Amino acid sequence: MERTLSIIKPDGVERNLIGKIISKFEENGLKVAAMKRTLLSQAEAGAFYAVHKERPFFGELVEFMTRSPVVVMCLEGENAVAKNREIMGATNPAEAAEGTIRKLFAQSIGENTVHGSDAVDTAKQEVAFFFAESEIH
Ligand code: ADP
Ligand code: MG
Repeated sequence: MERTLSIIKPDGVERNLIGKIISKFEENGLKVAAMKRTLLSQAEAGAFYAVHKERPFFGELVEFMTRSPVVVMCLEGENAVAKNREIMGATNPAEAAEGTIRKLFAQSIGENTVHGSDAVDTAKQEVAFFFAESEIH
C-alpha cells in the first residue's frame, strides 16, 4: 500500500470539478485517506514548489496556486504514486492521453487542474507537508 499527494488546483476548484476529479481516483482504485479545502498563502505555495524556484514560471505558478482555494488530498492504494500520475496525464494537456484528468479538464501547461507527487520519496515529503499522520485514515 502506497500514499501520494494530490491537489485539485484553483482552476479545477473554480470550475466545480472537485467531484468529477475525485471520481476518477475512486474509479481507478485509489482511496481518499485525508482531504482538506484550503487557501494557500504565497509562503506555503513557494515552499511547496521550492524545487522549481529557479524556473522562469515559478512566480506565475505561485500566483496561480494562491489565487483561490485548492483541495489537498492524501490518496492511498497499490502503486498510488504512479497510478495517480497515470490518471492525471502529462503536465502539458496538449500531450496528455485520452481520458486523463488533464486531457479532459486542463486549460494550459500552467493551469493544469491537478498536482501529483512524482516519486515515492517526494510523496512522503509532500503528504507530510499538508497532513499529520493522525489525520490520515
Ligand atoms: P507536474 O505537475 O506534471 O509534476 P512539473 O513538476 O514539471 O509538472 O511542474 C510543476 C507545475 O508547474 C506544473 O504542474 C504546472 O502547473 C507548472 N508548469 C510547469 N511547466 C510550466 C511551463 N512551461 N509554463 C508554465 N507553468 C508550468
Ligand atoms: Mg512535479
